[in-house]
Amino acid sequence: MSRSFDVVVIGAGPAGYIAAIRAAQHGMTAACIDEWKNKDGKNAFGGTCLNAGCIPSKALLESTELYHRAQHEFKKHGIRTGDVEMNIADMQKRRASIVRQLTGGIAGLFKANKVEGLVGHGKLLPGKKVEFTPVSGDAEIIEAKHVILAAGSAPIELGIAPFDDERIIDSWGALELDAVPERLGVVGAGVIGLELGSVWSRLGSKVTVLEALDDFLFMADRDVAKVAAAEFKKQGLDIKLGAKVTRASTDGDAVTVAYEDEDGAHSIEVDKLIVAVGRRPYTDDLFSDDAGIQLDERGFVVVDEECRTRVKGVYAIGDCVRGPMLAHKGSEEGVMVADLIAGEFAEVNYDVIPSVIYTAPEIAWTGKTEEEVRDSGRAYKTGSFPFMASGRAKAMEQTSGMVKVISSQDDDEILGVHIVGPMAGELIAEAVVALEFSASTEDLQRTIHAHPSLAEAVHEAALAVDKKALNFPNK
Ligand code: FAD
Ligand code: AMP
Repeated sequence: MSRSFDVVVIGAGPAGYIAAIRAAQHGMTAACIDEWKNKDGKNAFGGTCLNAGCIPSKALLESTELYHRAQHEFKKHGIRTGDVEMNIADMQKRRASIVRQLTGGIAGLFKANKVEGLVGHGKLLPGKKVEFTPVSGDAEIIEAKHVILAAGSAPIELGIAPFDDERIIDSWGALELDAVPERLGVVGAGVIGLELGSVWSRLGSKVTVLEALDDFLFMADRDVAKVAAAEFKKQGLDIKLGAKVTRASTDGDAVTVAYEDEDGAHSIEVDKLIVAVGRRPYTDDLFSDDAGIQLDERGFVVVDEECRTRVKGVYAIGDCVRGPMLAHKGSEEGVMVADLIAGEFAEVNYDVIPSVIYTAPEIAWTGKTEEEVRDSGRAYKTGSFPFMASGRAKAMEQTSGMVKVISSQDDDEILGVHIVGPMAGELIAEAVVALEFSASTEDLQRTIHAHPSLAEAVHEAALAVDKKALNFPNK
């Protein structure tokens, strides 16, 4: 007799494992199938995010930021260390250990919540049946009342610069380098390219980032992008905009990267090339042709606002469906779908998903950019406050950047908050709550913020919207 579950989830990344746990919390029987294998050959839950994305990148950003600060800031505090040395093997050991703890934690969470974690390949068949092929052993057919596809995404490979896993590498390879490349090329100045470029630049690589678009961080508010570009330049990141990579080829120990910009054709030589030009939905062998699942022209599983596919009882969430490829977006979709299956009201507010880039300074925003508000035709007002005027930022020796608040002129509603500066990724949470509650600027202005704190900059930016900033001259 085949096993059956109320909910079967395919994929145990931040979208899938959260969906399975939430389903179990509702008292449903749930299984979560995942085939992820790490470079050491071991299977692990957690998907891209825990194994090769959010977590390992943040581990390395933290290590290298501390290294950078020890070299460049400690002296200002009066701390004399002598020569500071970075041991790459130890840094990588720490990264791997954090990943191991967290991925092992998911196995523990599955046990505690009575989710059946199944290691192997899952494939949706017609009639909400799932073919499960374990790592070793025979395939079995599992029956499900509801199926959630959470298969995630994979790095986009450029035909003109195919990965060789040695010199032309993807983001996962870039997280696990065991030595600092002298010259590092990065194709794509997106979130991943900038974070990885920062990591290796802080360790001494000469980093060149080639970005096809003319606008730096086109998705961010222009004021924030301007500050960020200046900061990265100061740090020595050579970001070439309007530079379209046309070919990369390995030649012995080096990679020759050809690119074109408005001045014509150029080429550079690097020791390693990270191709970080985005990710594609990963749906390889995820469902049979007759399962009824539809993909759009870019390969995403077609779903409605509530993540329902065209097949009744089959949902899809996370990176394999439309919307920003962010872990927290996928997790919230997982919660929504499990709640909907349980018969509860649930929704995801796609308008206020925070975006964070964990460079130094960090960049974070939620809601609309000034350009988007302007294009919408709505009358608006803005206010900003520089971290230079923040006591806490000064004490932290991290005064670069600012907070910008954009609000509607007519009813004072906050439409967007944009931060470039220390702990921006933490500070943005307050803005997300404000937007979720449709707060007015006055709400934020009248909210007491602890002194001295970085959050005071958010408060002051809200005050500045009405020219009421207290610790910086109003414009
Ligand atoms: P995934 O995490 O990709 O998980 C999908 C899982 O499904 C995988 O384990 C895969 O093996 C498994 N799977 C697929 N098909 C099958 C099948 N048929 N059978 C069995 N198993 C299957 N996002 C953030 O929000 N913040 C960040 O700081 C951040 N940093 C990032 C840094 C890097 C370098 C990268 C690459 C990504 C980063 N992201 C970040 C993006 C984030 O990792 C993804 O948005 C997130 O992992 C998507 O979650 P998911 O569950 O949809 O898919
Ligand atoms: P993201 O999608 O945020 O990871 O960013 C990927 C970036 O890579 C985008 O800004 C693209 O414009 C850029 N990109 C894509 N193809 C190329 C190319 N051939 N040369 C340079 N940049 C590219």
